[in-house]
Amino acid sequence: VSTLPAPQALPPGNEALRARLLGLFHQDRLHHCMIFEGPPGVGKAASALWLAMAVNCERSGSGAEPCGACWSCRSIQRGQHPDVIQVGLDPEKATPIISVKQARDLLGQLSLHPFHARRRTIIIEPADALNPEAANALLKTLEEPPRATGFVLVTSRPMDLLPTVRSRGQRVRFGAVELERLVPWLQAQQVDQAGELARLGEGCPLRALALAEGGLATWREARDRLVQAISGGTAARLAWSETHARGERAEVSGEIALCLDALQLLMRDVLRRLACRAPADQLYNSDRIELVDAWADRLGLMGLVRLDQAMREAQLDLEANVNPRLAMDALLSRFGAELRPGRAP
Ligand SMILES: [Zn+2]
Repeated sequence: VSTLPAPQALPPGNEALRARLLGLFHQDRLHHCMIFEGPPGVGKAASALWLAMAVNCERSGSGAEPCGACWSCRSIQRGQHPDVIQVGLDPEKATPIISVKQARDLLGQLSLHPFHARRRTIIIEPADALNPEAANALLKTLEEPPRATGFVLVTSRPMDLLPTVRSRGQRVRFGAVELERLVPWLQAQQVDQAGELARLGEGCPLRALALAEGGLATWREARDRLVQAISGGTAARLAWSETHARGERAEVSGEIALCLDALQLLMRDVLRRLACRAPADQLYNSDRIELVDAWADRLGLMGLVRLDQAMREAQLDLEANVNPRLAMDALLSRFGAELRPGRAP
């Protein structure tokens, strides 16, 4: 008998929410199409799997945690349970979508009866990647799934779901975890700088963990390159866009999301320094406190508000498929202008 992984690979937080869902299942009132929404890395997909385990566990009594050891729990943990189906991005597509081919394949699987499960569970993640064709193929089934079958649509961008999909689901909102709980959990995962990562991960355990696994250095490098591009004038800015934002949006979206994140967190730190003199160790960019203060001096609240508006415009442009290089160059140029030394605040 092999040693088993702990059944609760679950991150901390949202315990009451999960308990409520399990309670609803035992009252036979669990909605057949739930939308698990909340910030990335908060444990939505992990909770969907936990729920699938809990409702199908062969050993735990009603209302209890899944045992993690029975056949059902173990096959769900390994991703091999025939009745717990996970649908993710189509690996055959260059763009990040869930395709109509995957949707049809899923419908085919659902036309058979469940093998073993008390409740067959289909987890679609990220559900906002369902393209319209795929979503339309699934609509009828989302509304009236086969017997003993339930959907969990996992997304951190619920507003990007098609309205027809959103209206068929019951929204279940996951929230960030308090730092007082997140820090000890990160420490128990043997993570250095747990306090800093908990803050940077914005209370999302799995995001903080990803930052710990090399992500923190990547994030800081991306931020520092950006700051250099902003302060280095036109040539530096163009060189940055040429290297980091060249290509179609889908190809560069990871890099750009990282940059927009970095700018956003810098601006939040600037705001907290300006508004309440937040101490350095409570900032996201605690390693660049001089930079944060220099930005605070040059921007003032008005400059910050203008840049916030510029960020919003860049995001809308990118969503409207404006060439990423142009959108980012325009954004960095606004930052450059606002941060120019000697500029009147
Ligand atoms: Zn079990």
